Amino acid sequence: MANKRTKWVVGNWKMHGRLAENEMLLRSLLERCGSVAETVRIGVCVPAPYLAQTEALLRGAPLAWGVQDVSAYPHGAYTGEIAAEMAAEFGATLAIVGHSERRAYHGEKSEAVALKAQRALAAGLTPIVCVGETLDERETGATQAVVGAQIDAVLGALSVEELSRIVVAYEPVWAIGTGKSATVDEAQDVHAFLRERLAAKDASLADVTLLYGGSVKPDNAEALFSQTDIDGGLIGGASLKSQDFLAICKAASTAHAV
Ligand code: PEP
Repeated sequence: MANKRTKWVVGNWKMHGRLAENEMLLRSLLERCGSVAETVRIGVCVPAPYLAQTEALLRGAPLAWGVQDVSAYPHGAYTGEIAAEMAAEFGATLAIVGHSERRAYHGEKSEAVALKAQRALAAGLTPIVCVGETLDERETGATQAVVGAQIDAVLGALSVEELSRIVVAYEPVWAIGTGKSATVDEAQDVHAFLRERLAAKDASLADVTLLYGGSVKPDNAEALFSQTDIDGGLIGGASLKSQDFLAICKAASTAHAV
């Protein structure tokens, strides 16, 4: 059944980009996003040193920007960390938290991810909370247990009001950067599970935006985004090429929930 939720497409540039490349990419997105940006919420999460550049280029444009992580604390002796409030000062409105690369390479636990989401909200940013299972976990039938525990940590720590302002991204670890996307059915099943879990906390949370991430490309985006519980995508590799990213945004604008 078709739903009325706005579609979102958010790019995660990861640790890519330099001043000149960023400018070309952002200018190209600005010139060509056209009417798609009227119906799809488009955003880019850039490496933190480029927030000022992004703000300067996108100020007033129908594109949002943000960071790929924030500290769980507002300030203090946390060398190398970036407070959500700092990103907000540069006009950021989005913050990815709990990306699987942070969980895997920086040992981030779900409890810390929940605190980060809360800090982002307190600073006025929309946290995009990432959850997802590894290949081993999927193959041993543990997908729901793993993803359920990851989302439960956030559901337990945040108020219903706070939760109403988060976005959740289901990103199976085995599909990230591998070229191997989840099938539409695999993705839809986990999204339906997440939506039920949110609604079980409070009925109003059934409408939280749920994004899919993991090797989304122009040729699979529309099928994924047409699933009942998939409200758009978090896009890694393909967000670095303006043509591909814009094609994915366009797919979000033409996708119809089935
Ligand atoms: C990501 O890193 O969030 C991601 C979805 O990457 P990719 O699209 O490259 O699989």
